[in-house]
Amino acid sequence: MIDISGLNKWYGDFHVLRDIDLTVGRGERIVICGPSGSGKSTLIRCINHLEEHQQGDIIVDGMHMTEDVKRIEQIRRHVGMVFQHFNLFPHLSVLDNCCIAQTWVQRRPRREAEATAMEYLERVQIADQAHKYPGQLSGGQQQRVAIARALCLKPEVMLFDEPTSALDPEMIKEVLDVMIELAQDGMTMLCVTHEMGFARTVADRVIFMDQGQIIEEAPPTTFFNSPRSERTRLFLSQIL
Ligand code: ATP
Ligand code: MG
Repeated sequence: MIDISGLNKWYGDFHVLRDIDLTVGRGERIVICGPSGSGKSTLIRCINHLEEHQQGDIIVDGMHMTEDVKRIEQIRRHVGMVFQHFNLFPHLSVLDNCCIAQTWVQRRPRREAEATAMEYLERVQIADQAHKYPGQLSGGQQQRVAIARALCLKPEVMLFDEPTSALDPEMIKEVLDVMIELAQDGMTMLCVTHEMGFARTVADRVIFMDQGQIIEEAPPTTFFNSPRSERTRLFLSQIL
Protein backbone atom coordinates (compact mmCIF):
# COMPACT_ATOMS: atom_id res chain seq x y z
CA MET A 1 0.00 0.00 0.00
CA ILE A 2 2.82 2.39 0.94
CA ASP A 3 6.39 1.68 -0.01
CA ILE A 4 9.04 4.17 1.05
CA SER A 5 12.68 3.49 0.32
CA GLY A 6 15.84 5.51 0.80
CA LEU A 7 13.87 8.62 1.70
CA ASN A 8 15.96 11.67 2.52
CA LYS A 9 14.80 15.19 3.05
CA TRP A 10 16.48 18.46 3.96
CA TYR A 11 15.10 21.78 5.12
CA GLY A 12 17.91 23.94 3.77
CA ASP A 13 21.03 22.53 5.44
CA PHE A 14 19.06 20.61 8.02
CA HIS A 15 18.86 16.89 7.26
CA VAL A 16 15.38 16.14 8.60
CA LEU A 17 14.74 12.61 7.22
CA ARG A 18 17.61 10.15 6.91
CA ASP A 19 17.44 6.98 4.83
CA ILE A 20 13.88 6.10 5.73
CA ASP A 21 12.64 2.68 4.56
CA LEU A 22 9.06 1.91 5.45
CA THR A 23 6.51 -0.49 4.03
CA VAL A 24 2.87 -0.48 5.01
CA GLY A 25 0.76 -3.35 3.74
CA ARG A 26 -2.95 -3.09 2.97
CA GLY A 27 -4.94 -3.22 6.18
CA GLU A 28 -1.88 -2.69 8.36
CA ARG A 29 -1.96 -0.29 11.31
CA ILE A 30 1.30 1.45 12.08
CA VAL A 31 1.96 3.78 15.00
CA ILE A 32 4.89 6.21 14.80
CA CYS A 33 6.27 7.77 17.95
CA GLY A 34 9.39 9.66 18.91
CA PRO A 35 10.60 12.87 20.49
CA SER A 36 9.54 16.31 19.33
CA GLY A 37 11.43 17.35 16.21
CA SER A 38 12.36 13.79 15.21
CA GLY A 39 10.64 14.16 11.82
CA LYS A 40 7.38 12.25 12.37
CA SER A 41 5.13 14.91 10.84
CA THR A 42 7.56 15.54 8.02
CA LEU A 43 7.61 11.84 7.17
CA ILE A 44 3.86 11.37 6.95
CA ARG A 45 3.43 14.70 5.15
CA CYS A 46 5.79 13.44 2.44
CA ILE A 47 3.38 10.59 1.72
CA ASN A 48 0.78 12.94 0.23
CA HIS A 49 3.34 15.50 -0.86
CA LEU A 50 2.45 18.19 1.66
CA GLU A 51 6.24 18.17 1.92
CA GLU A 52 8.56 17.37 -0.93
CA HIS A 53 11.52 15.07 -0.52
CA GLN A 54 14.89 15.26 -2.25
CA GLN A 55 15.98 11.60 -2.37
CA GLY A 56 14.33 8.22 -2.38
CA ASP A 57 11.09 6.71 -3.58
CA ILE A 58 7.55 6.91 -2.28
CA ILE A 59 5.04 4.56 -3.86
CA VAL A 60 1.40 4.74 -2.78
CA ASP A 61 -1.00 2.11 -4.03
CA GLY A 62 1.33 1.32 -6.91
CA MET A 63 1.75 4.98 -7.88
CA HIS A 64 5.21 6.49 -7.85
CA MET A 65 5.31 9.97 -6.28
CA THR A 66 6.74 12.52 -8.70
CA GLU A 67 6.61 16.30 -8.98
CA ASP A 68 3.85 15.95 -11.54
CA VAL A 69 0.75 17.77 -10.29
CA LYS A 70 -1.60 15.21 -11.83
CA ARG A 71 0.25 12.37 -10.12
CA ILE A 72 0.21 14.19 -6.78
CA GLU A 73 -3.55 14.74 -7.09
CA GLN A 74 -4.01 11.09 -8.04
CA ILE A 75 -2.12 9.94 -4.95
CA ARG A 76 -3.91 12.38 -2.66
CA ARG A 77 -7.21 10.88 -3.72
CA HIS A 78 -6.10 7.65 -2.06
CA VAL A 79 -4.77 9.22 1.10
CA GLY A 80 -6.87 10.77 3.87
CA MET A 81 -5.19 12.97 6.43
CA VAL A 82 -6.17 14.11 9.91
CA PHE A 83 -4.16 16.83 11.65
CA GLN A 84 -3.51 17.78 15.24
CA HIS A 85 -5.48 21.02 14.91
CA PHE A 86 -8.42 19.62 12.92
CA ASN A 87 -7.97 22.13 10.05
CA LEU A 88 -11.70 22.39 9.39
CA PHE A 89 -12.94 25.35 7.33
CA PRO A 90 -14.32 27.66 10.03
CA HIS A 91 -16.75 29.47 7.70
CA LEU A 92 -18.38 26.25 6.49
CA SER A 93 -20.89 24.11 8.35
CA VAL A 94 -19.95 20.60 9.42
CA LEU A 95 -21.93 19.23 6.48
CA ASP A 96 -20.27 21.60 4.00
CA ASN A 97 -16.84 20.76 5.40
CA CYS A 98 -17.58 17.15 4.51
CA CYS A 99 -19.02 17.97 1.07
CA ILE A 100 -16.64 20.52 -0.37
CA ALA A 101 -13.85 18.22 -1.54
CA GLN A 102 -16.38 15.68 -2.78
CA THR A 103 -18.12 18.22 -5.00
CA TRP A 104 -15.05 20.25 -6.04
CA VAL A 105 -12.35 17.62 -6.33
CA GLN A 106 -14.34 14.50 -7.05
CA ARG A 107 -17.17 16.28 -8.90
CA ARG A 108 -19.85 14.29 -7.15
CA PRO A 109 -23.35 15.75 -7.34
CA ARG A 110 -24.27 17.69 -4.20
CA ARG A 111 -27.04 15.29 -3.18
CA GLU A 112 -24.74 12.31 -3.40
CA ALA A 113 -22.03 14.20 -1.49
CA GLU A 114 -24.49 15.07 1.26
CA ALA A 115 -25.64 11.49 1.58
CA THR A 116 -22.05 10.30 1.89
CA ALA A 117 -21.27 13.06 4.38
CA MET A 118 -24.25 12.12 6.55
CA GLU A 119 -23.29 8.46 6.41
CA TYR A 120 -19.81 9.18 7.80
CA LEU A 121 -21.03 11.81 10.27
CA GLU A 122 -23.40 9.12 11.51
CA ARG A 123 -20.47 6.76 11.86
CA VAL A 124 -18.49 9.17 14.04
CA GLN A 125 -21.72 9.88 15.91
CA ILE A 126 -22.01 13.52 15.12
CA ALA A 127 -24.74 13.64 12.48
CA ASP A 128 -26.95 15.70 14.80
CA GLN A 129 -24.39 18.55 14.62
CA ALA A 130 -24.25 18.64 10.81
CA HIS A 131 -25.58 22.18 10.52
CA LYS A 132 -23.35 23.73 13.16
CA TYR A 133 -20.07 25.51 12.46
CA PRO A 134 -16.74 24.13 13.72
CA GLY A 135 -16.43 26.94 16.28
CA GLN A 136 -19.63 25.72 17.93
CA LEU A 137 -18.22 22.25 18.58
CA SER A 138 -15.85 20.86 21.19
CA GLY A 139 -12.35 19.83 20.15
CA GLY A 140 -13.27 16.15 20.24
CA GLN A 141 -16.31 16.78 18.08
CA GLN A 142 -14.28 18.82 15.60
CA GLN A 143 -11.72 16.06 15.32
CA ARG A 144 -14.44 13.50 14.66
CA VAL A 145 -15.76 15.76 11.90
CA ALA A 146 -12.24 15.95 10.47
CA ILE A 147 -12.08 12.15 10.40
CA ALA A 148 -15.51 11.93 8.75
CA ARG A 149 -14.45 14.54 6.19
CA ALA A 150 -11.39 12.50 5.27
CA LEU A 151 -13.42 9.29 5.04
CA CYS A 152 -15.93 10.90 2.66
CA LEU A 153 -13.26 10.77 -0.04
CA LYS A 154 -13.06 6.98 0.43
CA PRO A 155 -9.30 6.87 1.00
CA GLU A 156 -7.30 3.67 0.80
CA VAL A 157 -5.10 4.78 3.66
CA MET A 158 -5.52 7.23 6.52
CA LEU A 159 -2.66 9.31 7.95
CA PHE A 160 -3.09 10.73 11.44
CA ASP A 161 -0.73 13.35 12.84
CA GLU A 162 -1.17 13.49 16.61
CA PRO A 163 -4.97 13.63 16.30
CA THR A 164 -5.57 13.74 20.05
CA SER A 165 -2.71 15.84 21.34
CA ALA A 166 -4.63 19.13 21.15
CA LEU A 167 -7.60 17.67 23.02
CA ASP A 168 -8.63 17.86 26.65
CA PRO A 169 -8.27 14.48 28.36
CA GLU A 170 -11.98 13.76 28.46
CA MET A 171 -12.23 14.14 24.68
CA ILE A 172 -9.31 11.94 23.77
CA LYS A 173 -11.25 8.74 24.22
CA GLU A 174 -14.09 9.67 21.88
CA VAL A 175 -11.57 10.28 19.08
CA LEU A 176 -9.53 7.16 19.84
CA ASP A 177 -12.73 5.10 19.85
CA VAL A 178 -13.47 6.28 16.31
CA MET A 179 -9.93 5.39 15.26
CA ILE A 180 -10.16 1.95 16.86
CA GLU A 181 -13.40 1.29 14.99
CA LEU A 182 -11.76 2.35 11.76
CA ALA A 183 -8.92 -0.05 12.44
CA GLN A 184 -11.38 -2.86 13.13
CA ASP A 185 -13.04 -2.15 9.79
CA GLY A 186 -9.70 -2.91 8.14
CA MET A 187 -8.54 0.59 7.20
CA THR A 188 -4.83 0.95 6.46
CA MET A 189 -3.60 3.46 9.02
CA LEU A 190 -0.39 5.31 9.74
CA CYS A 191 -0.73 7.19 13.01
CA VAL A 192 1.70 9.53 14.68
CA THR A 193 0.60 9.40 18.29
CA HIS A 194 1.89 9.10 21.81
CA GLU A 195 -1.25 7.28 22.91
CA MET A 196 0.51 4.08 23.81
CA GLY A 197 -2.71 2.39 24.90
CA PHE A 198 -3.95 2.86 21.35
CA ALA A 199 -0.67 1.50 20.01
CA ARG A 200 -0.95 -1.61 22.16
CA THR A 201 -4.57 -2.20 21.14
CA VAL A 202 -4.50 -1.64 17.40
CA ALA A 203 -0.99 -1.36 16.04
CA ASP A 204 0.53 -4.16 14.02
CA ARG A 205 3.87 -2.41 14.33
CA VAL A 206 5.21 0.50 16.33
CA ILE A 207 7.94 2.65 14.87
CA PHE A 208 10.27 4.81 16.94
CA MET A 209 11.92 7.78 15.24
CA ASP A 210 14.74 9.94 16.51
CA GLN A 211 16.71 12.62 14.69
CA GLY A 212 15.17 11.84 11.34
CA GLN A 213 15.82 8.11 11.47
CA ILE A 214 13.77 5.03 12.16
CA ILE A 215 15.53 3.64 15.20
CA GLU A 216 13.25 0.73 15.97
CA GLU A 217 10.30 -1.05 14.45
CA ALA A 218 8.49 -3.92 16.17
CA PRO A 219 5.10 -5.38 17.07
CA PRO A 220 3.69 -3.60 20.16
CA THR A 221 4.43 -6.38 22.65
CA THR A 222 8.08 -6.55 21.63
CA PHE A 223 8.32 -2.79 21.34
CA PHE A 224 7.02 -2.09 24.83
CA ASN A 225 8.36 -5.12 26.68
CA SER A 226 11.79 -5.52 25.19
CA PRO A 227 12.89 -2.57 23.07
CA ARG A 228 16.29 -3.16 21.52
CA SER A 229 17.60 0.37 21.42
CA GLU A 230 18.69 2.40 24.44
CA ARG A 231 17.10 5.50 22.89
CA THR A 232 13.74 3.75 22.63
CA ARG A 233 14.00 2.66 26.24
CA LEU A 234 14.78 6.18 27.36
CA PHE A 235 11.88 7.57 25.34
CA LEU A 236 9.43 5.01 26.73
CA SER A 237 10.56 5.68 30.28
CA GLN A 238 9.72 9.34 29.74
CA ILE A 239 6.24 8.87 28.34
CA LEU A 240 4.88 5.74 30.04
P1 ATP B 1 6.52 17.07 17.04
O1 ATP B 1 6.43 15.86 17.91
O2 ATP B 1 6.92 18.28 17.84
O3 ATP B 1 5.31 17.29 16.20
P2 ATP B 1 7.90 15.98 14.72
O4 ATP B 1 8.60 14.71 15.02
O5 ATP B 1 6.59 15.92 14.04
O6 ATP B 1 7.80 16.84 16.07
P3 ATP B 1 8.69 17.59 12.48
O7 ATP B 1 7.58 18.57 12.57
O8 ATP B 1 8.64 16.59 11.40
O9 ATP B 1 8.91 16.85 13.87
O10 ATP B 1 10.03 18.43 12.36
C1 ATP B 1 11.29 17.82 12.28
C2 ATP B 1 12.36 18.89 12.30
O11 ATP B 1 12.29 19.67 11.14
C3 ATP B 1 12.28 19.84 13.47
O12 ATP B 1 13.56 20.09 13.94
C4 ATP B 1 11.67 21.09 12.88
O13 ATP B 1 12.13 22.24 13.54
C5 ATP B 1 12.17 21.03 11.46
N1 ATP B 1 11.19 21.64 10.54
C6 ATP B 1 9.89 21.29 10.40
N2 ATP B 1 9.28 22.01 9.43
C7 ATP B 1 10.23 22.86 8.95
C8 ATP B 1 10.25 23.86 7.92
N3 ATP B 1 9.16 24.12 7.19
N4 ATP B 1 11.41 24.49 7.71
C9 ATP B 1 12.51 24.22 8.41
N5 ATP B 1 12.59 23.28 9.39
C10 ATP B 1 11.45 22.61 9.66
MG1 MG C 1 4.72 16.59 14.51
